[in-house]
Amino acid sequence: MNIDSIKEGLVIDHITAGNAMRIYNLLGFDKLECSIAIIKNVNSKKMGKKDIIKIDSNIDINLEALGYIDPGITIDVIRDSKLVEKRHVDLPETLHGVLRCKNPRCITSVEQELSQEFMLTDRENRVYRCIYCEAKAN
Ligand code: ZN
Repeated sequence: MNIDSIKEGLVIDHITAGNAMRIYNLLGFDKLECSIAIIKNVNSKKMGKKDIIKIDSNIDINLEALGYIDPGITIDVIRDSKLVEKRHVDLPETLHGVLRCKNPRCITSVEQELSQEFMLTDRENRVYRCIYCEAKAN
């Protein structure tokens, strides 16, 4: 893949420097078959340094998970080598299936088929709590 020009795919831009691998891991990009380029510590006028992830395919991306990690991220959607859409994420009110509750006594640890859900309880400090046991995420 030529990392400067994508014909079809996504560019996840304005990632806070150092967060690219967290996104890669949390969103399960290791399981993708397409080419992925992670570019770290790119000079940015706005941010000083930033990370960028380029994906050579128009995959469905978990916007909740992206917003949770880094609400300043933008996603460029590329088709026929043209930018067709610019998406913004925000700190989500709820997270579905993004995090697992670490409380061993939580009902989701016992009943594995329950969906993992977290709620934003403190926007300023970005605190999420399990909706079942109210344990703090990480
Ligand atoms: Zn819980």
